[in-house]
Amino acid sequence: MTEAVGHRVDIHVHPTRYSRHGPTFAEKNRIEFSPQGLLREMDSADIGYGVFLCPRLAPSLEAGLADVSEVARSSHGRFLPTGTVDPTQGEAQIDHATQLWSRNDPPLVGIKLYPGYLPFDVTDVRLEPVYAWAERARVPVWVHQGDTSDPDGLLRYVRPILLDEVAVRWRGVRFVLCHLGNPWIEEAAEVVYKNENVYTDTSGLLNPFAERYEAQVQRMRTRLRHAVLAVGDVRKILYGSDWPISSIADAVGLVEGLDFPREDKDRILGGNARELLRLPG
Ligand SMILES: [Zn+2]
Repeated sequence: MTEAVGHRVDIHVHPTRYSRHGPTFAEKNRIEFSPQGLLREMDSADIGYGVFLCPRLAPSLEAGLADVSEVARSSHGRFLPTGTVDPTQGEAQIDHATQLWSRNDPPLVGIKLYPGYLPFDVTDVRLEPVYAWAERARVPVWVHQGDTSDPDGLLRYVRPILLDEVAVRWRGVRFVLCHLGNPWIEEAAEVVYKNENVYTDTSGLLNPFAERYEAQVQRMRTRLRHAVLAVGDVRKILYGSDWPISSIADAVGLVEGLDFPREDKDRILGGNARELLRLPG
């Protein structure tokens, strides 16, 4: 892994070729929907690394891993690749996935799960081999929680409290509860507060299509502030954008606008992720 220029880390980006709504969000945010476009946004915000969450819409496990790996390589290590799997596809598929993950080049920095978008929740026993793999590989598991951007997603699978049970069962695995579980932010904060192995990210909290966008930013910043205070430990909070759903400038601005000490904001914007992922610098 090459040492990257920026100090910050974006823990949650989707510069994938397998995106249904990515181009629409990019157009609304007036950004270029390409890995190169994202790198330019990262440069202007002092972001060295971006965790590229493996697309769930790739036609195969191999295609998804090829997407994240090629983009990681062409970025000279600034995009960090992850894997994903759909547990409803059965045991053989999960087995195949863990084998591919073990020999992926470059090595994966984590696994992303998409409950809600797919009909399963994190307590599903079919996921046990995934958690076991993450424990052995010593990499975190990112878990989509909260609202689905796809109206066909199912909200019963995405309540943050479901992750509590898994976090207790798998103390050797670190979890990233994505999107602060929005709108169940208090519930998410409790799960992060209670479990030393659960972190949360600030990604996807801003909807560029919302009416009165500036008022929405203020509302989310207040909710984020309360969540950080409820968690009580700034080291558990990780900056993420969910790019291209948010531009990098808007996602960083959400955190920068918090009335917290500079040191705390620097932790959220990169220091915590560097520790979690053992990145240089
Ligand atoms: Zn996302």
